[in-house]
Formats: sequence, structure tokens, C-alpha cells
Amino acid sequence: MSLRPGLSYYLFHWLWSGVDLLFPPRCAGCGKLGQRWCQACRRQLAPPPEPICEICGEPQPQPGICPNCSATRPAFYALRSCAVFKEPLRPALHHLKYRQNRGLAEALAWDCALFLDTLHWQAEVIVPVPLSEQRMRERGYNQAGLIAHSLARLMNWTYQPHALQRIRHTRSQVGLSAAARRENVRAAFSAQDRLVNGKIILLFDDVATTGATLHSASEALRAGGAKRVYALTVAKALPKYGLDRTESFSARSSR
Ligand SMILES: [Zn+2]
Ligand SMILES: [Zn+2]
Repeated sequence: MSLRPGLSYYLFHWLWSGVDLLFPPRCAGCGKLGQRWCQACRRQLAPPPEPICEICGEPQPQPGICPNCSATRPAFYALRSCAVFKEPLRPALHHLKYRQNRGLAEALAWDCALFLDTLHWQAEVIVPVPLSEQRMRERGYNQAGLIAHSLARLMNWTYQPHALQRIRHTRSQVGLSAAARRENVRAAFSAQDRLVNGKIILLFDDVATTGATLHSASEALRAGGAKRVYALTVAKALPKYGLDRTESFSARSSR
């Protein structure tokens, strides 16, 4: 692999390694004592099965562009996910979302970086999908931002958490059809033109279900002058692995 993390990544990594030596953590995936995210859990990560849609990354019977993307082209250039949203990633992301485990975010960022390295996307700026102000007040931090920040250090790209804002609080996406999800998050974001104009951007989130949120956020970035928007998530929710459970999970978390 060709990852060349900057010094700030190593400083951050060593800091967390030191903390873990003093206070051995449990794996957020399987609960085993010793590491925040163990090798056995890491090895279970696998991206959605091929063939997938060239644009939205959704598994489909044949290669090419899926009917949804053919009918309405998403605002992102491509969307990919590091792994299917199921055990052990499901409990790990839940842990990250509710316990602000920054060391775990750093570990997951490493998995994302290895995956990203295979895609050969040349982005310059990483922008996390922001929470609404209300959700940010409740939770105090953006779990996608924690991973994105470490990922930026690994890739030597710029982390830009202020490029996007939520301009309205959207209802939970739970139980909504794909079309209703798009409508729900339509015009939910606004971009800072001076931070995105002319840039190739990696938009980052923790979980993708239909991609509606990423589409809406990409629209705002494009309207702000972004040259191209790639979208990456840690996990992709698939019906086969309990999309309903995903949705009840994101009921509390959907922004
Ligand atoms: Zn584990
Ligand atoms: Zn598609």
C-alpha cells in the first residue's frame, strides 16, 4: 500500500497507544480485552459484494449504473463504503456514536485509509457530514468527524469540518422510502463557498443507507463550487444484514 501518513498522525497514534498501555481497553467489536478494535474484528470487514453500481455502490445483479442512478444522477461522483454494516462493525460504530471513543475513531480511520487507497481517489479536502446544531448540542461531538479527522491525517489531506452546515433539522429517516428520504434531506445543507470552491472533496459519513443524505450534502458542495465530490462511508447498510435493525439504530442517531 502507498499510505504515507504525516507526523501528526504518528503523534496522535502514539498518544493513543500510550493510553491503551496504561488502561487496556476492550475491543468495541467483540469485547475482548487488549485493543480498541482487534485484528480478528478488522479481518471480518468486507465491502458490499460485487457487482455494484459504478456510482452509488449499491450491490446489483450486473456491473454498470443502477436504474436509480440512471433515472436521477446523484450529486456525488461516486459513493463507496469500506464494509457492510453488520457485526462486528455495528457495535463498534454504536460505541463510537455514544461514547466518544477517539482511539476507536483512529483505528477505524486506518481501515478506511486502506480501503481508500484501493480506490485511487485524488481528493484534497475531507468534509464530514455535519450534525444539526440540535444534535450537536445533545451529543457534543460528530462521530463521522472523529473518523474523518484521523483519516485526513493518514491521507495528508485537509480536514475541513466547517465546509458544510445543516441549515435545518431533518426528521429521522427511519421507515422512509428512498424517495421520501431524498425529499426529507433536500436542501438540508449549505456550503461555505470559500472553503470548497474549485476543490476535489471527499465527503465522509459513518453509515450509508440509500445515499440520500450524501446526495443532498454533495448538492450543497457542488453549489458552493466544488469541482468534484467523492463520498465515502465506513459502513453500508444492506437489507440482507438487517436494514431494519440499522434503521432502528439510526432512529436515535439520524441527524
Ligand atoms: Zn474484536
Ligand atoms: Zn446507483
